[in-house]
Amino acid sequence: MAAFGTVFMPEMAITEFNGEQWSAPRKAAVEHIQLHPAAHVLHYSSTCFEGLKAFLHADGSVNIFRMEANIARLIQSSRLLSLPEVDAEMLREMITSIVATYADKTPTPPGSMYIRPTHIGTEPSIGKAAGASASSMLYVLLSPVGDYFSGGVRPLRLLIEEQGARCAAHMGMVKSGGNYASALQPIMQARAAVNADQVLFCPGGDVQETGAANFMLIDGDEIITKALDSSFLHGITRDSILTIARDMGLKVSERELSVDELLERAGKPHCEAALSGTAAVLTPVGTLIRNGTEHVVGTGTEGATTTKLRTALNEIQWGQRSDDYGWLT
Ligand code: PMP
Repeated sequence: MAAFGTVFMPEMAITEFNGEQWSAPRKAAVEHIQLHPAAHVLHYSSTCFEGLKAFLHADGSVNIFRMEANIARLIQSSRLLSLPEVDAEMLREMITSIVATYADKTPTPPGSMYIRPTHIGTEPSIGKAAGASASSMLYVLLSPVGDYFSGGVRPLRLLIEEQGARCAAHMGMVKSGGNYASALQPIMQARAAVNADQVLFCPGGDVQETGAANFMLIDGDEIITKALDSSFLHGITRDSILTIARDMGLKVSERELSVDELLERAGKPHCEAALSGTAAVLTPVGTLIRNGTEHVVGTGTEGATTTKLRTALNEIQWGQRSDDYGWLT
């Protein structure tokens, strides 16, 4: 299987905002798009995107997981970046029609069709360093993906970063390209220095999230994760896992968690930690590295609660458990 996100369906759904209105969405070849070299996105990073998945069920139907939540987040990201307002109904149509076009190319579980709506500012004006792009382009790419866990679940190694932040504090909840670019240097350095898989950003000692997933500590029957604020991405998998956890009778504590408390709790043998995200689903964390010292989380292997939560979420996505929350389209 090719690397995640490198294979695309031959067409995408696309529309343009010309400063006054959106063009009628159409299908276009996934080849090259035309952008003026002065396009706003290329200079001032007016870009946001989403990541969601469609799953093939045993009855042959193709089901998109939590499309409405992802549409709402793209609309919110677009607003916070001063991009043209995205119409929810239009985007819904674009996503469902392109997914339907390639329904027969949807991989069987544990694979899925990854859906990538993208919104970019296209106005050719380098004079708009402090101005919004009047025009934009919105397109929806499809990429068939395999099992993230092929080769087995391997507990991750996270480097705790307390000095730097992933991105500007008021922009964390925006799914924007600039946030990923600004997190790259710490992530590359953590890989090179301590062979970490990811960086756990904990600015000022406050446990936040990693470069592409949310963080959860599972201590017995309690899940502790940061309460929503503007500093980090409001993961839809996070919300799904917490909803399932509550209904399983687990206690969900959305609150501040300091690095000191995290390491103290993580040292207990029954403790678990995991990353949640559309790609990662729920991936166990085995080791936390702080100032050169390695701290094993629990037994350092995947814990029973992590497995139980991930299985429940996968079963809903794969149509093997009833969709009681109405998450599938
Ligand atoms: N945080 C960051 C920075 C991410 O890139 C992602 C992946 N979209 C997440 C958290 C998890 O979000 P979701 O569960 O909606 O995929």
